[in-house]
Amino acid sequence: MSGEQLRWGMSTDVGRVRRVNQDAGMANGRLFAVADGMGGHRGGEVASDIAAGHLIQIEDVSSADELSDAVERANTLIRGRAATDPDLAGMGTTVVALAVVSPDGDLPIEFAAANVGDSRLYRLENGEFEQLTKDHSLVAELARAGQITEEEAATHPQRNVVTRALGADDDVLVDTWLFPARAGQRFLLCSDGLINEVSDTDVAHVLREVADPKLATMHLVDMANRAGGRDNVTVLVVDVIGDQAEEADEACETPETES
Ligand code: MN
Repeated sequence: MSGEQLRWGMSTDVGRVRRVNQDAGMANGRLFAVADGMGGHRGGEVASDIAAGHLIQIEDVSSADELSDAVERANTLIRGRAATDPDLAGMGTTVVALAVVSPDGDLPIEFAAANVGDSRLYRLENGEFEQLTKDHSLVAELARAGQITEEEAATHPQRNVVTRALGADDDVLVDTWLFPARAGQRFLLCSDGLINEVSDTDVAHVLREVADPKLATMHLVDMANRAGGRDNVTVLVVDVIGDQAEEADEACETPETES
């Protein structure tokens, strides 16, 4: 899939309470990722920057396994850096990534996604808004086990505790997905600073109403801040334009050429 067939926008903000933004977002036209760093002092910031900085160099992914390998390499880089600097000991980061998979390096085929931690990937398609990733967090595991409700999870005092992160161990278990690319799909990658402040219903409403991806991310960040902004917030929206949209553009241009 060429860059022209995707449109995207990204916004990140420190929020209203924290002094440092430990989130990082990246987009290179073929791979998109959000990382939410954790760890005292500079740790969280450095870990999320290492993850984003590694992934931004990757342009071609031919399988979900390849994306998983890239995330595992980011883990190794974070571990290596933490081992050489006592200030960074114990640093970690979540990462959620979406990558174009095109075996011939151009044509749109599929997307691969990868997740570690509690940042999220959602898809809006044919009006249906759906979380594709599964959170690696204490509250999500309790909810999946039926020990607490989704409502209790949303306000649980330990809702920030993640059960998987890059930097935590030499080995990291990466969840991956592979699914078809279709014109009209809209993807949202975000850190928990959005999810914990704004309901999925309100997020979906913005994604349905605001066509421009950058503007949509700005709206969502603004909503998180107005709701309290208790955490850093990073929002990335990726739209699949495809053939239908291109045809519509051409149809619109014709009368102008004639007049
Ligand atoms: Mn966060």
